[in-house]
Amino acid sequence: MTTNKLEELLKKHFKFDTFKSQLQEEAIIQISKRDDDVLVSMPTGSGKSLCYQLPALLHSDKVTLVFSPLLALIKDQIDHLTALKIKAASLNSKTLAAERAAILTDLKTNSPTTRLLYVTPEQAATQTFKDLFSNIVKRDRVAYIVVDEAHCVSEWGHDFRPDYLKLGVLRDGNKVPVIALTATAGAEVIKDIVGSLRLSSTYKTFRTSCFRRNLFYDVYYQNLLDSPYEHLKAFIKNCLNSQDDLLSKENKPCGIIYCRTREQTEVVAFKLCEMGIKSLCYHAGLKHKERLEYQESWQKGDYPVICATISFGMGVDKASVRFVVHWGVPKDPASFYQESGRAGRDGRASKCRIYYNRTDRRAIEFHLAHDLAKAKHKESRKVKAQNAIKAFTKMVEYCETAKECRHRLFSNHFGEPPPDCRNRCDICRNRKEVEERAHNFLMKCIQ
Ligand code: ADP
Ligand code: MG
Ligand code: ZN
Repeated sequence: MTTNKLEELLKKHFKFDTFKSQLQEEAIIQISKRDDDVLVSMPTGSGKSLCYQLPALLHSDKVTLVFSPLLALIKDQIDHLTALKIKAASLNSKTLAAERAAILTDLKTNSPTTRLLYVTPEQAATQTFKDLFSNIVKRDRVAYIVVDEAHCVSEWGHDFRPDYLKLGVLRDGNKVPVIALTATAGAEVIKDIVGSLRLSSTYKTFRTSCFRRNLFYDVYYQNLLDSPYEHLKAFIKNCLNSQDDLLSKENKPCGIIYCRTREQTEVVAFKLCEMGIKSLCYHAGLKHKERLEYQESWQKGDYPVICATISFGMGVDKASVRFVVHWGVPKDPASFYQESGRAGRDGRASKCRIYYNRTDRRAIEFHLAHDLAKAKHKESRKVKAQNAIKAFTKMVEYCETAKECRHRLFSNHFGEPPPDCRNRCDICRNRKEVEERAHNFLMKCIQ
């Protein structure tokens, strides 16, 4: 398949001039070859659908089967494809008998006109579907087996669906390439996807690197500072200082301070206001209306700093966040990646700092031990609690020791090779000083 041909299809059918990213293009080139299984792991919004929709058009005598967990997602895709004049249909619990019959008739011909057939995993388990599947596979009419939102096979994610686990049996007795797509990139999740969907040992992956080169990571210890709040203030002033006076209010630099408790958000916001930095607090104890109002004031740029519990952030998509502080300690590498990752969405240099203390560490350890004790007899809850403890231990180690590049916490978590940090963290920038600080911290703790 020539790249030209793919670009032509891109323009003609999808009305895009270029691929969204090099990774999208590479994935599409590989998938078009139809010679191996493929796993695509890219963040939401990166254009994963095109990775199978475009190759599906190359095989005009075959249908691409797409397994997707939600009717709403399926409906969006079908509407979108229909608008592009690409023939797509769906088999789900709501499909009317007449439509179902039409789909089955079409697929049983030698040159089916349906290019993409969306199927819910529940539907895949029915006898009707199994019969259809073996029929079309036998006649070599299936181009790809696509599993969208593939993290649903994994109990590590938040979206686990037992029906997804059964999709692995579709592999039996055929060589149709499986294309798995997900936005979740954790190493455990990927392992589950590869295992459950029985991807070939030579499967190809296309993954966005987790390394965010515009984010600088460092750690300070509250108990080593003369005045932690003064230190915080200086940091904020430095981050918010913008040379660009032309920026509109909502694009002015701003920041988020994550605290463990509601009280902490209030205390930190109060201290900062006292020191002349306009700050809000945000937590689940506020009235719904207040929460919306505060989030909006921050979003609009009336208040540059928001001190929040981790309930803040869902749906927050502000590009000009110049810093994210954790006042205390994040609960695990995945949460830390997500929370600190709200900084620098515009690609400009931004900072992610932890102001660590042992009090928060103990409080979290206490809760985790409590969860484990409560899970005594329930095996799955116990495993979850043990995993949470393991993950937190990594966070503590990250904060209390100055062993390796800060970005490696994430590359290890996501199972990627270590990134080329180039001084985008305190340890790479000045290892000696950071080691000394960590040493002083430990000395002070045992005093
Ligand atoms: P994902 O599944 O990764 O979350 P989608 O497949 O839903 O992402 O695509 C996200 C958006 O990107 C959609 O609006 C889609 O039309 C758009 N998109 C995909 N590919 C391209 C491209 N090559 N050029 C421009 N926009 C694209
Ligand atoms: Mg998607
Ligand atoms: Zn580094």
